[in-house]
Parts: sequence; C-alpha cells; structure tokens
Amino acid sequence: MSALHIYNSLSRQKELFTPINPPFVGMYICGPTVYNYVHLGNVRTFTAFDVVYRYLKYLGYNVRYVRNITDAGHLTNEQGEGKNRMEDQAKLERIEPMEIVQKYTLSFHEVCSLFNLLPPTIEPTATGHIVEQIDMTEQLIQKGLAYEANGSVYFDVKAYNNKGNNYGKLSGRNIDELLAGYRDLDGQDEKKSSVDFALWKKASPEHIMQWNSPWGSGFPGWHIECSVMSTKYLGKRFDIHGGGMDLKFPHHECEIAQNIGACNEEPVNYWMHSNMLNFNGQKMSKSLGNSILPLELVTGNHPLLDKAYSPMVVRLLFLQSHYASELDINIKSLQDAEKNLRKLLNAANYLQEITQSGELKPDVDIENQIHQLCLGCKGAMDDDFNTAKTVANLLGLATHINTYYNNGKTANNISVDVYNSLQKYYVEYLFDVLGLKNETQNTDGSNETLDKVMNLVIDIRKQARENKDWTTSDKIRDALKDAKINIKDNKDGTTYELI
Ligand code: AMP
Ligand code: ZN
Repeated sequence: MSALHIYNSLSRQKELFTPINPPFVGMYICGPTVYNYVHLGNVRTFTAFDVVYRYLKYLGYNVRYVRNITDAGHLTNEQGEGKNRMEDQAKLERIEPMEIVQKYTLSFHEVCSLFNLLPPTIEPTATGHIVEQIDMTEQLIQKGLAYEANGSVYFDVKAYNNKGNNYGKLSGRNIDELLAGYRDLDGQDEKKSSVDFALWKKASPEHIMQWNSPWGSGFPGWHIECSVMSTKYLGKRFDIHGGGMDLKFPHHECEIAQNIGACNEEPVNYWMHSNMLNFNGQKMSKSLGNSILPLELVTGNHPLLDKAYSPMVVRLLFLQSHYASELDINIKSLQDAEKNLRKLLNAANYLQEITQSGELKPDVDIENQIHQLCLGCKGAMDDDFNTAKTVANLLGLATHINTYYNNGKTANNISVDVYNSLQKYYVEYLFDVLGLKNETQNTDGSNETLDKVMNLVIDIRKQARENKDWTTSDKIRDALKDAKINIKDNKDGTTYELI
C-alpha cells in the first residue's frame, strides 16, 4: 500500500490516500474558461495537478483524469450570475462565441504542451453536456431543492440545509454570514434568498449562446457543469477533486450541494486546492493587469520581465514551493530558478556518462547521503506532494553527480546498489514525476532546434532565388507566414522572427 497522504480541504487535515477502487483513481480538475488566453497563475494551478496526476501514475495507479473546458460562458459574480464573458469577448473580437472557444482552447493546449502538462484522459466541454445539465436541474426541482422563477432555475440553499445538509462546510462559511454579505445582486428579485445560486438562467433575445429547456430558452449556471461532468465520467462518488483556491467558494461549495442534492451522496473523498500565484506581491489576475501570458514569458515581451524565460524555468519555480502555499514570484526568483534548472538538467546529462568504477572503498557517509536523498524524493511526494522538498533532494543529488563528473566521470566511492538508485531515482523524479524536460529551447528564450531548421529553410530559399525558381521561394515564404514566421532579407543575410 502506498504511504501517500493528501491534505483534504474538506476535513482540513492530511489523510492517508485510499482509493475507492484501486488500482483505479478518479480525479476531476476544474479546467479553464476559454474566453481568453490563460496566464501564468492559471498555469500554476494546472501544473500542480499535473504533478498529482504524474505521481499517482508513477505509484502505479490507473488514473482517469477529467479536466473540463468551460465554454458555455460562465458568469461573473459570487453566485454565478451576471455577464457572459464568452459573448463579451466574441463581440469584442467580432466573431462567433464558438470561434472564441476554439481559438482559446487550441491556445490552451499549446500552453499545456509548452509547460509539459500531460493531457487529461477525458476533456469534456460544458456545451457538450447541456442535456445532462438540464437533467440534473430537473432532478433537483423534483427533490424540492430547486425552483423555477421567471424562466430561470435556482438552487434552494435553505431547503437543502433544512434536510440536514451544511452549505458552506467546504469553505467554512455559515449561511447567516452569507446572507448578510449579499446585497443587490442580479436575480435578487426573483430568488427566494440571496444565497441561492443559478442552475439555469433565462436568456434575453440578444444572448447568442442559448439552448431550449423545460423553462424556455436559456443557458446553464456555471457550477452545474462540473457536477454533471464529474459524476458522468467518474461516478457519484470519486477520489479526488481539485482546482485553484479561489474556486472553493462558491464554485466547489455549490458543486457539493448539487451533487448531494441530486445523487444523495458525498461526491468527493479528497478535495484539493492549490494556492494563488502572485507577482511582486500581488495576485496575478487579468483584472489587475499584472498577468503574464506564456507567450510574453518566452519572448520576454512584458514590462515586468527583464528578459525571456523558458517554460521549464517557470515550471521549476512553481514546483519549488508547495502547491498549497501562496507563491510570490519576481525577477530574482526567476533568475534563481533558471540557475537551478541548468544545474538539474546538466546533472541529468552528466549522469549518463558517469560509470561506477568501485575503485575506492565505499564511503559509508556519502552512500548514506545519496541513499537518503533518493528516499527523500519519495518521502516528500508522499507527504501531500511536497515538490519543494523533492526539488531540494534532487539539487542535493545534482551536487554529488557534479562531483563525480568532475572527478573522472566515475562514481568510485559508492556501491553498485547506491549507484543504481542514483541513476534510477534522479531521472524518474526529475522527468517523470516533476515533469521537467530537457528543452530544445534554450533558457535565454532562443530555440536551438528551430534555429537549425530555419537555417536549412533559409538556405533552400536562397538557392531557389539564385536559380530564379520563384515558385519555390514564394512557396517557402507563404508557408512560413502561415506558421507565423517572418523572414527578413537584409544586407548581412536572411534572419527570421516569430510573429
Ligand atoms: P479560470 O479560467 O479563471 O476558471 O481559471 C482556471 C484555474 O486557474 C482555476 O483553477 C483558478 O483557480 C486558477 N487561477 C486563476 N488565477 C490564479 C492565480 N493567480 N494563481 C493560481 N491559480 C489561479
Ligand atoms: Zn469546476
């Protein structure tokens, strides 16, 4: 049995991880709202759960990892009401809402691959599950836990609590405080109580995204999609549900209420919440104007950045803190992470060349240090995915590796067993568990492989031009343009830039 412990946000304590049906594990993570580019704060959250997924797989579990795409245009205020952000963006960009969805979903996937985030095993969309959301809403009405008002449907929080439930148990809020806190919000006049939240909203005629329902034309509330998609793919009760800390309330609180209301069962065994990313002491968010987009990071084209940083530098920086702690990054911490990344990746390369010569008597002290560092990687991950400690252990191992590399590329004072552990655990934890990778992209933002390919393409084009083969040279230029690469002919030769 694994010794993995997970901090459960619901029980507020670390608990031994016991899957419902081993070796299977069901995990649901709230995915992005695809109305805009994801920023580094979002990437931190997805990286945290990528490592959870990787480590569970590493331990031998067969994980069904569901991460949704919120594409139905969710609403902005605490109870899930207000404006439709997808449509606002569509109007701004003068395109169809589903074009917005497609554009930002594709961009999100590119970001995932840039940061080496493994794809989920199922990536369901809210718009693909409208029928199920209507079904669950109907079930809640039938059970007396929801009511229709003027073409919208609201969850009846008081009725839910009157049945012995506790709305607010995840976020630690009580209903009276909540009631006191809500004033003048959308839907106030048609709701029984200001604490009630929308399951379905009536759409005004100009609303572009709307569907038929038993209550007329409208669109689902934000929270219901996750209740529907998690239970559809993972069952009424499943192992892990995660998301950013800011989703605890109201989103996850509402999910629990909907699930218990519709399925009569506590839905999730382990609730996990990752903490926020700050830049220079302030939460990174689009509305505060301090969000850094992945593209801005890799080009260095952002007023808060001194230069370009590679995605792996940022991934390492994220992993150097525990997912549940707030992480404040700045230029200095990016620079430090860059150095650490270089040390870790260099050591991985050196390790391939280091042999075990056994020419010296094993040094028990060194053997013990290496052994403890290797064991420490697992110990740290078992302790609620403490990647910060795992990275520290790997840096410790990298120091030993550097010493061996500089001393004739031979590990001459450790036994074969310890040498084998070093070879195995260093690589497994660095690459498989933490998901770092040797980048073709240099840490200064340039890209070695692309440089090589482009030099070749530029050469072929040059030859074609010299031969007056305009068809080929034009074809190359147009194809590059499609690939968002601009080539410039100047007196010193031809250069390229990404556009
Ligand atoms: P959204 O697309 O806004 O629904 O956000 C996607 C995920 O990113 C959610 O799990 C949020 O909790 C998370 N998130 C948003 N801002 C930050 C931030 N500054 N730091 C960490 N996670 C964030
Ligand atoms: Zn969700």
